[in-house]
Amino acid sequence: MPVIVVDPERPDPSVIRAAAARIVGGELVAFPTETVYGLGAAALNPGAVAKIYAAKGRPSYNPLIVHVLSPEAAQALVTEWPPLAAELTDQFWPGPLTIVLGKRPLVPDLVTAGLPSVAVRAPAHPVARALLEAAGVPIAAPSANRFQAISPTSAAHVARSLGPDAALILDAGPTRVGIESTVVDLSGAQPALLRLGGLALAELEAVTGPLARPAAPDKAAPRSSPGLVGRHYAPSGELRVVEAGQIEAAVVGAGPVGLISFAEQAPAGVDHHLSMPADPREYGRLLYAALHTLDELGCARILVEAVPNEGAWAAIRDRLARSAVRA
Ligand code: AMP
Ligand code: MG
Repeated sequence: MPVIVVDPERPDPSVIRAAAARIVGGELVAFPTETVYGLGAAALNPGAVAKIYAAKGRPSYNPLIVHVLSPEAAQALVTEWPPLAAELTDQFWPGPLTIVLGKRPLVPDLVTAGLPSVAVRAPAHPVARALLEAAGVPIAAPSANRFQAISPTSAAHVARSLGPDAALILDAGPTRVGIESTVVDLSGAQPALLRLGGLALAELEAVTGPLARPAAPDKAAPRSSPGLVGRHYAPSGELRVVEAGQIEAAVVGAGPVGLISFAEQAPAGVDHHLSMPADPREYGRLLYAALHTLDELGCARILVEAVPNEGAWAAIRDRLARSAVRA
């Protein structure tokens, strides 16, 4: 299936129309959002949604985020629209915030993995928005990668992970945020944070107040949200997070060894070194691409220098911790 290059700001309308026709016809389209590339299907068509699970090798207990153009479009899918939903979507949509609310019956159970709630988000990427507009239907779209693998931030990552024939791929270059959306659950008595992500927690909590937090990823507690699945975002090689002072010692062992660090130079024994920026947003934008690169270079072990233990780095720390969980 083709990879079609589109302008990230002004995608060609005829390309978007063709992609939208596929969505409406029940086929899959991989498309860029500002967070990562999504694998999209018509959200209200169970047959189309089933193709997402098949292409990803994703177990059907893992629900999907439904992408919409606006709060009004989201309201058509949910049973209530509390004042906090209005405030949050006013402030952060379109953008990297997903909200979970009670679902209306028209949302297929397959989309929500049987949960009584549905996750909705209005993406900011012009290509995602053009596709939603042309299709005229909500689009269910998880990240366009095999289950538990690293999320794609480029079209090449999508093709490599899903295979070239899984879907039409709209290629608009690398994504801007690079980390999945922040997920907040508004369906319960108290708003709860289900997943750290592209919208900084401090910005979110400035509106919601302190949020209830899910259990830490390494606890074997029942999961209220699959974003809490332990192993996720993982490369094929072994990934370890190490403090700066321990990198040299950690390099010793089987190779090839990849290193992601803040330093400009790597110690002896490192086969592939990627130097990362000190700004958390920039780091987040580049992290998955760095993991994909070291994976493609065949690294048996990937060492990642620990990132600062500060709020602005929380989503990155979370993803690194999950990438390091062994199967
Ligand atoms: P992905 O599509 O791979 O970015 O992951 C979607 C994530 O959204 C899931 O892993 C969950 O964390 C979250 N999610 C989707 N639907 C629901 C729901 N109904 N209730 C709770 N969390 C959800
Ligand atoms: Mg994913």
